[in-house]
Amino acid sequence: MQHQLVWFRNDLRVRDNQALSHAVASNQAVLAVYLACPQQWQAHELAPIQADLIERRLVALQQQLAELNIPLLAVHCSDFTSVPQCLLQLVQQYQIGAVHFQQQYELNEQGRDQAVQQSLSQQGVEVVSYHGDCILPPGSVLTKSQQVFKVFTPFRKAWLSQLDEACFSPLAAPAAVLSSLLPDSFSKLLAKPEPIKLDYATSNSSAWLCDESEIIQCLRDFSAVKAESYQQLRDFPAEPGTSKLSPYLALGIISPRQCLARLYHDHPQALESQQGGAFVWLSEIVWREFYRHLIAAYPQLCKGRAFLDWTERVNWQHDEQLLKAWQQGQTGYPIVDAAMRQLAATGWMHNRLRMIVASFLSKDLLIDWRHGERWFMQHLIDGDFASNNGGWQWAASTGTDAQPYFRIFNPTTQGERFDPKGEFVRYWLPQLSEIAGKKVHQPHSWAEKSGQYLAYPKPIVDHAKQRKLALSLFEQAKANM
Ligand code: FAD
Repeated sequence: MQHQLVWFRNDLRVRDNQALSHAVASNQAVLAVYLACPQQWQAHELAPIQADLIERRLVALQQQLAELNIPLLAVHCSDFTSVPQCLLQLVQQYQIGAVHFQQQYELNEQGRDQAVQQSLSQQGVEVVSYHGDCILPPGSVLTKSQQVFKVFTPFRKAWLSQLDEACFSPLAAPAAVLSSLLPDSFSKLLAKPEPIKLDYATSNSSAWLCDESEIIQCLRDFSAVKAESYQQLRDFPAEPGTSKLSPYLALGIISPRQCLARLYHDHPQALESQQGGAFVWLSEIVWREFYRHLIAAYPQLCKGRAFLDWTERVNWQHDEQLLKAWQQGQTGYPIVDAAMRQLAATGWMHNRLRMIVASFLSKDLLIDWRHGERWFMQHLIDGDFASNNGGWQWAASTGTDAQPYFRIFNPTTQGERFDPKGEFVRYWLPQLSEIAGKKVHQPHSWAEKSGQYLAYPKPIVDHAKQRKLALSLFEQAKANM
């Protein structure tokens, strides 16, 4: 008797999981596996807080799957090159006839999966993959001349026009596998589950949920209560105006299709008229898809290349001291420092702040955006290659449909505009707590006027000067095209 194997990767959920549902529908016994690759993670600097969330999620998933009579194993295989061998061993040990998994679009992951496909097919094992991480799979949304979109707005238009019934119909959790189908080896694993340990440094992620039902409830609450005001509130870091679902989307504890279906359930008019907060929120999910479609079409993005070739000639002015000041929230620009402290303390940063600090690193400190991209991946609980690379290249003006290089954020006015009462800054920089209102964004002017001493650094660079320099560096690079 042959059994089915579900290989969990970035789809750590039971609902709307095509790989799982198809395996169960075969009416055979199902085994589940998660392959931990600590050496690979170390090389790519997976954030310890994200590793902790993965581990906690796997423990919860093991219990959920056990209720469906599916044992979950967490197997170690150091790096991606050893994955085909790890799977072959499992396939032989547990008499597996088919392996199911959800596709990933990064270059290394694609290479790994091709090697898996080849080695398993040679052994007569069926390999089936699914596109659950995007609502519409990469390569399926193209221009009239069958090209990949490089600009977001027409991509979104085409994307919206291609949505069909299935996009709005996430799968329910599958029914339990019949006990009568279970071989002894599976029953033993269910009776005494193997412990889940990832063998990777972790840092406490307990402020974030790992229970699938509770996370779905967050989506429902956000959609019902906050989606409508999303457009008004989403840019203000002191307001709880965004969903904070990114860690769960990154690990696939919820799917983008569940987000779309919920929004449509609660706000059909907003989606049909393409207006209002719910539609603006959906657009963020579409940005997520856009960046996935891009990395699948342009593998050089996964090799650290800028999307716009000419920006590779920008003569970045690397300075280790300035980089450290940015990382530690010691730049003397309160909105930047507060944001970097939010990241260090929580593993998450508000989107407006991600744009501000990324712009600051690349256009004020003139440091290559790849240092920032890396720092984010090392610390974010929602670290996600496609969205992070897309966000950094957008802010550094090196990407497709990015911020034009001549539009440079002023960190002081950004702070005054998006933290107008200074609440966010005062929360993360208690040494500025005496300074009322938006004056907190220019603390040294306040200190001078009031004659107070401030235990807070002076700005490490002069924005006006750096802005001019950034413009000239970009212009030089462009002139050499
Ligand atoms: P919401 O505003 O509620 O949006 C809903 C969901 O849409 C998010 O959870 C996320 O999955 C997606 N989303 C929102 N904005 C974007 C965007 N601009 N691009 C792609 N997807 C988006 N997002 C990540 O998930 N992982 C990252 O590693 C990441 N790095 C970023 C780096 C930079 C420099 C920038 C500018 C943005 C980055 N983003 C990243 C996108 C965005 O900042 C986060 O997704 C968002 O802040 C998460 O908060 P939320 O869940 O409350 O988002």
